[in-house]
Amino acid sequence: MLVTLKEILSESVAKKYAVPALNGHDFFTAQGCLLACEQMNRPLILMFAGDFTFPADFRQDVHLRMLLEMARSAKVPVCVMIDHAGSYELCMRAIHYGCGGVMIDGSTLPFEENVALVGKVVEAAHACGVSVEAEIGHVGGYEGTPDEGIAKPQFYTKPEEAERFANLTGVDALAVAFGSNHGPYQGTPHLDIPRLTEIRDRVGDLPLVLHGGSGLPDEEFSKAVAGGINKVNYISGMMINCADAMREFSNAQAGKRLTSRQMLEVGMESVVSETRHILEVFNTQTLTIPVSETETVTARRFQ
Ligand SMILES: [Zn+2]
Repeated sequence: MLVTLKEILSESVAKKYAVPALNGHDFFTAQGCLLACEQMNRPLILMFAGDFTFPADFRQDVHLRMLLEMARSAKVPVCVMIDHAGSYELCMRAIHYGCGGVMIDGSTLPFEENVALVGKVVEAAHACGVSVEAEIGHVGGYEGTPDEGIAKPQFYTKPEEAERFANLTGVDALAVAFGSNHGPYQGTPHLDIPRLTEIRDRVGDLPLVLHGGSGLPDEEFSKAVAGGINKVNYISGMMINCADAMREFSNAQAGKRLTSRQMLEVGMESVVSETRHILEVFNTQTLTIPVSETETVTARRFQ
């Protein structure tokens, strides 16, 4: 069942669990994530790169429609959303395509400009029944950038700003920075849990999001979920582990004929087992309430 971000996170704060936000960038990976969630009857958020940076002939709109069809046919609630959209226009395009959530990333802007951008997206998205995630503070780092692998405390979310930002914008989920980093880590990361707890106390029942989940030890995830995190973006780590499984299989088959399908199925198996593991670590629960019809007017309109 295709649902919005707000719907899929609707029980997560009260029940203290997180929904995994996983990689929807290829069919086999998305299918592996979905199979695991169906096996365990747990909800799933499938992410798609918000910058639409693939080459024009990649047919991203077709790919996105494929994810939406997978969500509609799923036995569990699934939200398809774009990640780190850098502009109002990209969010509108994602809503037009049928996403149930958009993440608008104004986290590198000054506070007031971030508020203005996010407020504008929220107004339009809510009119279409689509939910919005935004970021306050800044989770840095991407593979290959100068700050790769190291979180920057000066960019951690200030609890008072998180509260003001939430009240001013009306967002449905808020990404916060408290020690995580995008891409692989250098050394062992440690999350600032007291900061997270203070943010949780200030924002009431607003779902909080951890970006840069890949590479965090299980015990750090458990602390983050207990401290108030309700959605975990976990993408790079699964891609790396999937590729490692395929490489290992390929090496073991050296000298024999190998097909692309064999390779992809090995990768998918890796994704299934990793997704099952993180569902346990994130304490993800079965969604028990009926989802509303009004929230999903746009998200379901291509049915
Ligand atoms: Zn992110």
